[in-house]
Amino acid sequence: MEVLKNYINGEWVDSKSTQLLDVVNPATTEVMAQVPLSTPEEVKTAIRAAADAYGEWRETPPVTRARYMFTLKDLMEEQFEELSRVIVEEEGKCIDEARGEVRRGIENVEVAAGIPSLMMGYNLEDIALGIDEECVRQPLGVFCMIPPFNFPLMVPLWFMPYAVACGNTYIVKPSEQVPLSQRMLFQLIDEAGFPEGVVNLVNGAKGVVDALLESPDVIGASFVGSTPVAKYIYEKGAENGKRVQAQAGAKNFLVVMPDADLDRTVASLLTSFFGCAGERCLSGAVLLPVGDVYEPLRDKFVDATSRLKVGYGLDEGVQMGPVVSKRHMERVLGYIEKGLEEGAKLLLDGRDMNVEGYSNGYFIGPTIFDEVQPQMTIANDEIFGPVAGIIKVGDLDEAIDVIHANPYGNASSIYTSSGKWAREFKYRVRCGNIGVNIGIVAPMAFFPFSGSRDSFFGDLHGQGGDAIDFFTEKKVVISRWF
Ligand code: NAD
Repeated sequence: MEVLKNYINGEWVDSKSTQLLDVVNPATTEVMAQVPLSTPEEVKTAIRAAADAYGEWRETPPVTRARYMFTLKDLMEEQFEELSRVIVEEEGKCIDEARGEVRRGIENVEVAAGIPSLMMGYNLEDIALGIDEECVRQPLGVFCMIPPFNFPLMVPLWFMPYAVACGNTYIVKPSEQVPLSQRMLFQLIDEAGFPEGVVNLVNGAKGVVDALLESPDVIGASFVGSTPVAKYIYEKGAENGKRVQAQAGAKNFLVVMPDADLDRTVASLLTSFFGCAGERCLSGAVLLPVGDVYEPLRDKFVDATSRLKVGYGLDEGVQMGPVVSKRHMERVLGYIEKGLEEGAKLLLDGRDMNVEGYSNGYFIGPTIFDEVQPQMTIANDEIFGPVAGIIKVGDLDEAIDVIHANPYGNASSIYTSSGKWAREFKYRVRCGNIGVNIGIVAPMAFFPFSGSRDSFFGDLHGQGGDAIDFFTEKKVVISRWF
């Protein structure tokens, strides 16, 4: 069985670790490779390589650094289909969803290629007689990234291209569940000819994360994953004097007003709740129909959902794949049991999902609970699977109260044809990403990927202008010439 290598200082190197985890295709359950939990010594070697590479990379003109991004983009375009296929095999989403992921990843490389403009500072002549003041942005050193399993290729690209284009050097620790698309990305990084040590990959889990956060030579960390781990990383990073941005878990509420266009709303709800098998931080989790729309919406939603085709993401016509692992499948099934115990009414039951040809795969069919109460576990916890809950509410105020009673603040949407309701929703709801007649509020690369309350720890998000601020520091120079 192939054991994945680390990529350090421009070379693929074997880990000495004897702790290996299987990388499993969640549809076929085939073990595709093994991933090592690299040792602290190996992490130190990667940090040393990145720190040594920093001096020269920082002095490389931004326009030259940008050219590496153009090359990487071209290579990713050439390998677009292969990258998408690898994502399906390791993570389980459908091929079109994987293509969307690769496209969104490439967009970040494209935006980072604009670094000569994005990194510019500003100045003012004559702040006093004959004295000028300027503000420049400078890179800081070695940064690292710790991604989640659900977008294995794209999430590291919310950060790495900006960090590196700004003149920093970088270490990625892929999610140990899905390390194959990062391996492939690093093959392309190698082919693009980035100087040795500028971009490094160290496989592993908590041990690698701790070694990165404890190193005095790492300036900052970007994290995307669950809320408990985000809190841990934010605190540990701060304790060790680092910049940290930690994008965390979610529980997203979707409000449907009585004046919404029902057919279009239902089509949007389907992709929101069940796209990527509900394993998106932007997935719908709880539906909040307002007033009279409840019954017709519920019936149309259940009917449309019951027709979704579940299967292996590489097979023709499949609309929903498996969840990522056996452990995660059991966790999601546990929540379905909990919903039943707490008295919610199961309208669509995704347990015992059998997909022909993949009888051992980690499949859960789309599941819908009605008569959910706000205090129930399934209304509060992040399930991160294809399970929707419906809570009927009387008006928009009640809907917003339900949203705010939940600690997460990642995303929320309203479906309506009224500008007034939409405006009120945008204005009042404390979530980082707000949708108006949009079910997956995924910010483009040139906007920050926002998040609020327990869905984000830090002040600068991934992507866009926030990324440039996170990966640079501002220096002010005041000059007078005699
Ligand atoms: P996770 O928190 O279990 O793992 C994320 C990363 O942290 C992995 O690389 C893992 O190796 C590492 N890790 C896990 N436990 C650790 C520990 N105790 N100490 C140090 N490192 C540790 O998350 P996951 O299950 O891989 O991903 C799903 C989660 O990610 C969901 O909660 C989802 O909402 C969230 N997510 C958030 C966003 C966002 O932008 N807000 C985007 C995607 C996913």
